[in-house]
Amino acid sequence: MAHLTDQEIAAKADIQPIEDIAAKANIPNEALELHGKHKAKVDIHQLEGDENKSKVVLVSAMNPTPAGEGKSTVTVGLSDAFNKLEKNVMVALREPSLGPVMGVKGGATGGGQAQVLPMEEINLHFNGDLHAITTANNALSAFIDNHIHHGNKLNLDPRRVSWKRVLDMNDRALRQVVVGLGGPSRGVPREDGFNITVASEIMAVLCLATDIMDLKAKLGEMVIGYTYDRKPVTAKELEVEGALALLLKEAIKPNLVQTMEGTPALIHGGPFANIAHGCNSLIATNTARKLADIVVTESGFGSDLGGEKFMNIKARKGDFKPDVIVLVATIRALKMNGGVAKDDLGEANVDALKEGIVNLGKHIENARKFGVEPVVALNDFVTDTDEERDFVLDWCKEQNVRVSLTQVWEKGGEGGVDLANQVLEVLDQPQEFKHLYDLETPIDQKIDKIVKEVYGGEGVVLTAKAQKQLAEIEANGFGNLPVCMAKSQYSLSDDPKKLGRPEGFTVTVRELDVKAGAGFVVALTGDIMTMPGLPKQPSAVNMDVAADGTSKGLF
Ligand code: ADP
Repeated sequence: MAHLTDQEIAAKADIQPIEDIAAKANIPNEALELHGKHKAKVDIHQLEGDENKSKVVLVSAMNPTPAGEGKSTVTVGLSDAFNKLEKNVMVALREPSLGPVMGVKGGATGGGQAQVLPMEEINLHFNGDLHAITTANNALSAFIDNHIHHGNKLNLDPRRVSWKRVLDMNDRALRQVVVGLGGPSRGVPREDGFNITVASEIMAVLCLATDIMDLKAKLGEMVIGYTYDRKPVTAKELEVEGALALLLKEAIKPNLVQTMEGTPALIHGGPFANIAHGCNSLIATNTARKLADIVVTESGFGSDLGGEKFMNIKARKGDFKPDVIVLVATIRALKMNGGVAKDDLGEANVDALKEGIVNLGKHIENARKFGVEPVVALNDFVTDTDEERDFVLDWCKEQNVRVSLTQVWEKGGEGGVDLANQVLEVLDQPQEFKHLYDLETPIDQKIDKIVKEVYGGEGVVLTAKAQKQLAEIEANGFGNLPVCMAKSQYSLSDDPKKLGRPEGFTVTVRELDVKAGAGFVVALTGDIMTMPGLPKQPSAVNMDVAADGTSKGLF
């Protein structure tokens, strides 16, 4: 039988009314704002519960292949496994961006028998959150250009406006643009550019705010550019933080949906982990912590990216800790890290596994550096061979790390019960969670520490431009913020071609950008772009909609 696509599997699933899922999650009716039959927003002010009673399971991973290694799939499947074990569990995930949906990677709703529903609606325009963030971001751009046009009282240097426009799409042609052309009635010409919405500071602010008032305060702190004498100018000085918060007043509410096995799921906020901080909103995580005994959540890409930022940015701002880290590994990613070309990953190759497994070794080490014990989830593909599986399982045992052959893609929650039981063992043990650096450590030393400890490199090199920016950041009083590394997801280094466990490398920071509202400094390394491009053959060419409104080609 031909193998069904994720979308075909999701279309056959039984989906329950969202009121039933809310009841299961102990969300009272007053807190539920329905968006159709299967989605709702949650008014967090109507909820009761003690966040500190709950355990947090963070799902992270080794360095991935371009197809993704199944983190969302394992996150969903593991929560369904806890559900099967009759635990009070909720899953918290990021919402998809249309860039990867139309591009190469696909949606972010899991796969096979471990998906969240309704997958199509979550993947396309989900409750309008990304639209609201895009609009708020671009409203601020409009306010900035309008301010300059009407006399520029704040003395903003049009050449130093750092706030960019955004679009929720991969659109390389918009990376650098000139706005304001056409004479005095069309504004003041200046260079501008577009980022993808998930890299907008407003996305990060929404994901790190604790409520609407905190959101408003953070929006006001955002630096939009610099004056002619190089002083930072904030959104508050334009007096628009109230309007921006107003545009986001619905988007800030977390979205309730369900897994294919009826586990309550909150999906909210979706910064990428290579160009932003890579975690779903703090509000969604805290809401799940209030409601459930176990919260399963993920951070994007490997433990070097989303994992590190979950610990050093999100957990620090949210003042909570992960109690266990599940590290997703696949035989195909291990082989790729062992030097096998993308097109040959389907062939059995234990020698390449032996070469590539050092990559997983580094991610295990990283989890332990944060004082949190990992459990490896070997995400099983039907094409993997027994010899390959045994090699990985035996290697983990030799390394003294828990490992589970995880079959949630094929079997749903049932295929993750062993993983869930191993996670429960770790949850019973005390963990000594620690951040990797203190906030008082200077910015360049924070980066140096991340490079040495998490990436396994020799240290950081700042370009002349980055050094100048560092001096300005410190002079402006932002030196105590944590760092949000923007780096390739494919390698532990800043060079996507250095696979496995590279050594002896340095990481070059080419630009530092302060996000004072979100509360971090972004360090851009390598060729990483905050507006991605589409591949030659985008996923979009396989998509279609029929006369009755049914869709196809969403994976
Ligand atoms: P990540 O969260 O790591 O990016 P996803 O969970 O989104 O990865 O999965 C990426 C893709 O891989 C999805 O299309 C999913 O259906 C597929 N996939 C995940 N696990 C498996 C598996 N065990 N077998 C086959 N396909 C899988």
